[in-house]
Amino acid sequence: MDGLLFDIAEASIHDGPGLRITVFLKGCPLRCRWCHSPEGQSAEAETLVFPGGTRLAGEYWSPQKLAEYLLDKSDLLDGVTFSGGEPLLQADFLLEVLDITKNALHSIIDTSGFGPYDKLKAVSERAESLHFGLKVLNEEKAKFWTGQSSSLILDNIRRLDKECATPYCFRLPLIPAVTDSEENLTAIAELAKELKNLTSIDFLPYNPMTGGKYAACGRTYEPLFNELASPLLDIKAFQAICPVKASILD
Ligand code: SF4
Repeated sequence: MDGLLFDIAEASIHDGPGLRITVFLKGCPLRCRWCHSPEGQSAEAETLVFPGGTRLAGEYWSPQKLAEYLLDKSDLLDGVTFSGGEPLLQADFLLEVLDITKNALHSIIDTSGFGPYDKLKAVSERAESLHFGLKVLNEEKAKFWTGQSSSLILDNIRRLDKECATPYCFRLPLIPAVTDSEENLTAIAELAKELKNLTSIDFLPYNPMTGGKYAACGRTYEPLFNELASPLLDIKAFQAICPVKASILD
């Protein structure tokens, strides 16, 4: 089964340890209001229209072609991160790639956790670690801010933690008064206390350039939160209630 990719970042230093290549798989069931990859949401190829020209977002690759591409670069890399969009939406393609690159490339899956549990478990068993892009834990608020309830994500994380030994971290975008509200941070710290394979929690500062690509997709960026507000997160106070290492990434 071929996979639809919308980008490949050749020299990433933000998507895991060392120098990595990041593969972006197209299509996502969530609609986060702060999404900085709107071209990754649709599961169809699309043409982005910029003032200076156009760019196709979406190209089909066979698992063999992508695996060979990655293995060719393995001597220069510390690993590969599969991101999106939501990689679980193309789990069968991803599993084929992982089966070929296993033992040759350190692999990280960057997922929201929203997808079929059996697929999440299967890709987790073939990867060295996962990044869960956790957002809003309250079910109703999650529906408003991300377009989906958080219940499937939380069920998947809890079950995976019991059934699979692969370590993982949480990565949260810092959305002022949304992801870093006292209610959400308390819920995340309580969740962390239940989990044995959670290694750390990383907060990612909001990128004020996020809205830039929406016009290219023919859409309007409507975040509905105050983009100029300072984050509420007090990392020391959060660390005091959180059982794993917490930090704000650059
Ligand atoms: S999960 Fe990621 S790719 Fe999907 S809508 Fe949210 S921010 Fe965008």
